Amino acid sequence: MLAKIYTEAAFENLFRLNRTVEISCLSDGAAPALYLRAMDQDGGNRTEIGELGEFGLIDRIASQFQQPHAAVVRGIGDDAAVLQTGADHYLLWSTDTLAEGIHFDLAYMPLRHLGFKAVASNVSDICAMNGKATAITIGLGLSNRFSVEAVDELYSGIRLACDRYGIALVGGDTTASPKGLVIHIGIVGQVAPDRIAYRSGAKPGDILCVSGDLGAAYLGLQILEREKRIFLQHPEMQPDLSKFPYLIERQLKPEARVKMVEALEKAGVVPSSMIDISDGLSSEVFHLHRHSGVDFSVFEEKLPLDQSTYDQALAFNLDPGTCALNGGEDYELLFTVRQEDWEKVVDLEGITAIGYATEAGMGMHYISKAGNVHPLKALGWQYGNAQD
Ligand code: ADP
Ligand code: MG
Repeated sequence: MLAKIYTEAAFENLFRLNRTVEISCLSDGAAPALYLRAMDQDGGNRTEIGELGEFGLIDRIASQFQQPHAAVVRGIGDDAAVLQTGADHYLLWSTDTLAEGIHFDLAYMPLRHLGFKAVASNVSDICAMNGKATAITIGLGLSNRFSVEAVDELYSGIRLACDRYGIALVGGDTTASPKGLVIHIGIVGQVAPDRIAYRSGAKPGDILCVSGDLGAAYLGLQILEREKRIFLQHPEMQPDLSKFPYLIERQLKPEARVKMVEALEKAGVVPSSMIDISDGLSSEVFHLHRHSGVDFSVFEEKLPLDQSTYDQALAFNLDPGTCALNGGEDYELLFTVRQEDWEKVVDLEGITAIGYATEAGMGMHYISKAGNVHPLKALGWQYGNAQD
């Protein structure tokens, strides 16, 4: 869409064109210019978004909308929306926005990797519904800092991911951005109704499983941040990242766990609940808890950590278990399976049982290697990180 900046005169013309009725419906009678001024001022009933948090804000928005359309099987609240569009499958639909300075730092994130990661993280949301991704759209906000060649770089990574995951780029939108780069991805996929996995299906006794390993992307980020700091102080020094190939790759080029979805199908198992790990394991366990109405016990000694994650956590003086719990950006799948299905999945490559679901009210527990029971805590993303 072409953006237009309305001058005050243009606004007045708009009113004169007899649109007053429509506009006053939307703005409760207040003129838009006055409304803008009110938004800038700290009026009497201003609530900071940080007070609600990301999830509080989403809940507030969701509570203002009903789902009157018969085709909506599941609306706001899961990794993707679920729509009934055909007889034999559901359509899955998800969107994500990545903003420079919030989700990525171009000081150490090459544009090609960014393009790949943006797509992979969206495919991951389709995997989290136990579905298969089919197509994406890309909305780009570009400041004048970006050249045609930079856009080519970004799209070379997007193309790589499209080839890898067998998905098509089918559209998008391009606009100027006052500052930095914003990437907005829409993705659709599909799943058979009897194979869909929601966040809400876990039952007491189900086994909590995770694909791959955890915490590596977080440590990769810590290394890149450290090297950026050193580089800013000593621009003549080039960072040597060759000692940490796995950790850096997990941060810069994560993979969506399409293979786990395929393996579960081959094994004839539908997870009773599922989510992907974008904000950190503990935060995602809390989502399963909240949506399924069960509690969970998670065992530190079961958490899958790559040796390099473990070693680097200690080198940074961090607790490896905490990195696995709260690191984020792993894009692994977290899911539950019924006990009777466990035998069918136990030998799948890259699956680890890390705990189990209990009756609501039993408590969200993290059991340390020493056997001590601690309350599980979700740290996750904070809106307050974003400053205007
Ligand atoms: P994920 O981390 O899997 O991408 P999110 O935590 O971003 O999921 O979103 C959780 C749910 O809230 C999803 O159903 C998403 O579509 C919905 N959601 C997020 N932001 C908004 C918004 N601004 N308006 C409406 N729905 C939203
Ligand atoms: Mg998700």
